[in-house]
Amino acid sequence: MDKNTMRGGSLRKGAIVCIDDERSVLLSLRDQLGWLLEHEYTVELAESGEEALALLEELAADQISVPVVICDQMMPEIRGVDLLEKIHASYPKTLKILLTGIADLDEIVRAVNCANLYRYIPKPWDQADLELTVREALRSYERDGLLERQNAMLQQEISERRQAESLLRESEAKLESILNSLEDVIWSASVDTLELSYLNPAAELVYGRDRQVFLDDPTLWQVGVIVPADRPQRALFFHQLLRKGSLSTEYRIFRPDGEVRWLSDRARVIKDAAGHPCRIDGIIYDITDRRRAEEKLAHDALHDALTGLPNRTLLMQRVEALHQHGKRDPDYRFAVLFIDLDRFKLVNDSLGHACGDQFLIAIAEQLRHCLRAADTVARLGGDEFTILLDGIQDTQDAVQIAERVLSRLAEPLQLGDRHLFTSASIGIVISACSYPSGTEMLRDADIAMYRAKASGKGCYAIFDQNMHAETLKIVQIENDLRQAIHQGELLLHYQPIVYLKTGELAGFEALVRWQHPEQGLIHPDEFISIAEDTGLIVPLGEWVLREACRQVSAWNLDRPPEQPLLISVNLAVHQLKEPNLIKIIEQILTETGLNSRCLKLELTESMLVENVESIIKTLTYLRGRHIQFSIDDFGTGYSSLSYLHRFPVSTLKIDRAFISRMEQDSENFEIVRAICTLAHSLGMKVVAEGIEEASQIDRLNSLGCELGQGFYFSRPVEAREAEKLLPLRYYTPAASANLLRATS
Ligand code: C2E
Ligand code: MG
Ligand code: MG
Repeated sequence: MDKNTMRGGSLRKGAIVCIDDERSVLLSLRDQLGWLLEHEYTVELAESGEEALALLEELAADQISVPVVICDQMMPEIRGVDLLEKIHASYPKTLKILLTGIADLDEIVRAVNCANLYRYIPKPWDQADLELTVREALRSYERDGLLERQNAMLQQEISERRQAESLLRESEAKLESILNSLEDVIWSASVDTLELSYLNPAAELVYGRDRQVFLDDPTLWQVGVIVPADRPQRALFFHQLLRKGSLSTEYRIFRPDGEVRWLSDRARVIKDAAGHPCRIDGIIYDITDRRRAEEKLAHDALHDALTGLPNRTLLMQRVEALHQHGKRDPDYRFAVLFIDLDRFKLVNDSLGHACGDQFLIAIAEQLRHCLRAADTVARLGGDEFTILLDGIQDTQDAVQIAERVLSRLAEPLQLGDRHLFTSASIGIVISACSYPSGTEMLRDADIAMYRAKASGKGCYAIFDQNMHAETLKIVQIENDLRQAIHQGELLLHYQPIVYLKTGELAGFEALVRWQHPEQGLIHPDEFISIAEDTGLIVPLGEWVLREACRQVSAWNLDRPPEQPLLISVNLAVHQLKEPNLIKIIEQILTETGLNSRCLKLELTESMLVENVESIIKTLTYLRGRHIQFSIDDFGTGYSSLSYLHRFPVSTLKIDRAFISRMEQDSENFEIVRAICTLAHSLGMKVVAEGIEEASQIDRLNSLGCELGQGFYFSRPVEAREAEKLLPLRYYTPAASANLLRATS
């Protein structure tokens, strides 16, 4: 509880202090000033100067104001004037009233001067006079106080305003310095005229012009510097901005040096207190670097990194666009040319990849030169390129371009100090409404390209529907073949191989067949090359080897050990390249129990041209395990006779073509003779393929050809049929000898 309440029982404005050494005087003063309570003043009494000073101090500590002090002049320990002087020193605002018995003018003058005496009241006093004096003093005190407070408030207001102004100035300076140091352009413009009212210095960096030119000429900023193509969009921007309140846009500007820069502008309409648009504020970022990075990304996504030509994605987009054009306009024609270099692998393998890259870049350049501006040349990857001819009259136009490309590529290419020769195969497809999309056109151009390649390379082929049907068939066979191996649709036929001198059975050649569930029995000519292209030949060949070994091993169990049957199995080039070929063969021999001396693997000459050393290593190892090798279709390939002796081959199989024409054509007979002589001189035996007549046997016998195979003895037959041939002697040597005598 504070002292105000303690003293007066309620809050009060202040206290009137009365000082007199006579207690009775004090009590009468208190009575007469009783009315003061109504004005929320209390009357405090002090009987001496000392008590009065203590009382005043106590009241000041309690923050109770003392507007009036009434003090007796004549007191034993201090004179009233002196006491008031002291009080004045500490409480100058307190109004001082002196009660004096004798009208001592000097004292009063002193009191006025030293203690700023407010009034003096002669003793004995008139009660009304006292009341009036005190009332008036209070009014004066309160008025002074109010004035003082007003003054104080005014002072404070002034100082606060000054402070606010200085803060404002400070923050404006800060803002100005921020705006000046920004790299982004800050602008402010009128809503009605779009005239600029502010532009920060960054504008000079971004636009490359003095900013004053924009402040002077608003159209320069709004339109003049904008790239013409982006101007309509810029005008629309201001229009929509006023409607929406805030908006962003991106556009290009020209700098005075001609450089184009990309800007992003974000603006906002500012409203006044009444909600009316009063100006537009905006910020402009220079986004050129970002845009360029985006453009580069977009370019890279659609172009080949090596040659800079459009890639497959971009090509397909363009093919699709032309295809749509063709749908709208039935007279419109375009063509796709699929180009594949014929011997690129050779360049890459022999000269290295860096040179291969240079070669492709040079080819891309050559192709570009063959085209009109509207045409596209794209690189699909590797050595595959595609030309898209936009708007041709007829097929002849496309043929002309294809011929131009072929003759250009036929010229030698200069790479450093080398001259490289190349050629290409080109597939041409002409647009047709029947194509559901561009993808099918590219597919058909690819098919035609394969046809061109197959018919001798360095030429073009125009796609026709037969090609498609054939391709579909191949694709179908490929798919079916994958399953054929697992579903047990493969089987082996066995064709006897006979000792020509005795007519006795030497063994069989295992020849694969495919029992297709819908197409019936399919011969190897129709699927072996597909199996080779797809790599399916590896599992297929392994199956053949295992099945042939198993079968012959079983047959040999019933034969005298000195007359085992030999089994010849065809080996494909892929199989020969398989790193685990040796392991597989050994595993199969162990599994089937076939004596390795009974296995003969047939290779073709073409298999012995590449990777010669590693092939010799493999064959030599297997030969060490008593496995034999023969060279199949001998005479049709291009193996150099001179290095034949390096391979551990025990037999040459003369191709059917020589045997069949051996009798009509003396040249063929001479070839057969030469092969026999060569084989024998290398310590090899000879097998004649395709014997269809008895007379051929005798001629071959005269050349010392040891073995023969052909329809004369038997066609290739199923295992069950072959079994019946086991005990047969195909002819008697006597008959043969007679024949020989008759023909010679
Ligand atoms: P190839 O290895 O030269 O097999 C001999 C081919 O000549 C067989 O054809 C056979 O039926 C045929 N032939 C044999 N004697 C005569 C005859 O007197 N007159 C005529 N016109 N033809 C005769 P086939 O069975 O159609 O095999 C064709 C080719 O398929 C084989 O030629 C061989 O290169 C390949 N081939 C067959 N089976 C396999 C195999 O399991 N693996 C591999 N890689 N190729 C195989
Ligand atoms: Mg063969
Ligand atoms: Mg053959």
